[in-house]
Order: sequence, then C-alpha cells, then structure tokens
Amino acid sequence: MSGAKKAGKVKTASVKAPKSKAAEAKSAREQSYRVAKLRTGTVIDHLPAGSALRCLALLGIPSDGIVTIGLNLPSKRSRRKDILKMENRELTPAEMARIALLGPKATVCFIEEFELVRKLRLELPTVIDSVVKCPNPSCITNNDPVAPRARVESSDPVRLRCHYCERRIRSDEVEFLHGT
Ligand code: ZN
Repeated sequence: MSGAKKAGKVKTASVKAPKSKAAEAKSAREQSYRVAKLRTGTVIDHLPAGSALRCLALLGIPSDGIVTIGLNLPSKRSRRKDILKMENRELTPAEMARIALLGPKATVCFIEEFELVRKLRLELPTVIDSVVKCPNPSCITNNDPVAPRARVESSDPVRLRCHYCERRIRSDEVEFLHGT
C-alpha cells in the first residue's frame, strides 16, 4: 500500500506539463508567504492592489526593522492584493482607522515570537472626524477653523461625503490631515 502511495507521489512530481493557472497561483501564494516570516511585528494583509506604498507612506518608514512589501499578489478574496509586513511595529487605533480608508477589507495580524496573537478585520466607522481633508476648496473646513467631518456612504469601494458641503470624496481623493 505504501509502495502504491509512493509511486503516486513520484509520478506527480515528475509531471513536466505546464502548470494550470490555479496551480501557478497556489505556488506563487506559497512562495510569497515564504519571503519573510515575522518574529514580532504587524502584517497588513488584503490591501487593495496598488495601495501598499500609500499605506507605508501613511505609517512612515521605520528607522530600523525589516519592512516587506508584496505587490499584486494572487488572492482568493479578490484577484490581486498587496501585503505589508513591518517588523517591531504596532499600530495605533488611529493608524488602523486610516488604513481602513485605503483598504476597507484589510486584515491586521499582530505577531509575537512567530505566533499570531491578534487578528482583526478593519472596519470603517460611520463618521470620520478630523482625519480626511475635504477636496472642495471653498468648503468651510478649508477656510475657517472647523475640523473636517466625513460620513461614510460606502465602504467598498470607499465613498465619503463631507458633512458640511456635501462634497463626495472618492477613495483616490482621500487626503489625510497633516499631523493626524
Ligand atoms: Zn466639504
């Protein structure tokens, strides 16, 4: 019996035919997770493809600690995703609220000594205060000392609306207030 099993394995391994798309995606996925295993730090997964660099800019490049960025990785949930791994870095609730604006389906994993200690799926609140600038130059928040407030109309795709001037804010228009 074990002989038959072994023979089966050898046969599979020796197949030289081109891999199926699914098999390719699987091996790419396996490879991407082999790149850097975090000892301690944070993994931000399921970021929309193309958003990891913006996410890193938002968090700031640390002076030490390894940062691994994966772009356009195959994903089960969506076709492509980005991933950001930061060694020796934790995230504040305010930072996670901002990341949720870039990737409303992102998950955040906190790793300690190679163990997953906490995993959260980010969610957008219904109202966002003092975080996102209104893109309307004549909005009161851009002219008077009034803190911006945005309502979340849709989280996927991200669509906000200024509470004061009713201007719609698309995800690519999201600009964070300085110093927040
Ligand atoms: Zn406004």
